[in-house]
Amino acid sequence: MKNQKKLIILTGPSGVGKGTVVKAILGKDKNIWLSISATTREPREGEKMGENYYFLNQEKFKEMIQQNLFLEWAQFAGNYYGTPLSSVNEKIKKGITVLLEIEVEGAKQIKEKFPNSLSIFLLPPDIAELERRIRNRGTEKEEAIKERLSRANYEISASNQFDFALTNYDVNETAKRIIKLIQT
Ligand code: 5GP
Repeated sequence: MKNQKKLIILTGPSGVGKGTVVKAILGKDKNIWLSISATTREPREGEKMGENYYFLNQEKFKEMIQQNLFLEWAQFAGNYYGTPLSSVNEKIKKGITVLLEIEVEGAKQIKEKFPNSLSIFLLPPDIAELERRIRNRGTEKEEAIKERLSRANYEISASNQFDFALTNYDVNETAKRIIKLIQT
């Protein structure tokens, strides 16, 4: 039986491909559970409540902060994002491997609270490629794209604060490398 790690943090700048890598990981390893975050961001086309995110208004989100219902939370590009505490606790108690796909400030908070967690930072092949990916995704307006890109530079400078930094050249390869890190 492999010694599977229990709390996995996948972080990195917006557009680096965290979401697609997560999908590939979940497709390859059915024992991993992905935490669904809460956010105050508006749903993008096709996004569903409780599937992609719990979409909340600011009032509700702040209420949850006050009630300590988040494992971590952060502000990102004008919106709030947070990991609901109860579902993660429940899975961890059951011995299920939990994967968090979150931005850098939240990832730092989790690493501090859970030093035994495995934290992985995804890097883009280069910053121009990151911009191409965000633009090709076509989900953000120009202002939001600029905000995400300027934050990306700051986030990338924090990549050495995590257990591993992997460059995401190929989704499948990256997913395989992450599963290996989880299982060893
Ligand atoms: P997006 O708006 O593109 O879905 O997400 C923006 C950023 O927020 C991404 O880097 C994403 O990983 C991050 N994010 C998603 N959920 C959470 C969360 O629960 N906590 C934190 N800190 N960041 C999150």
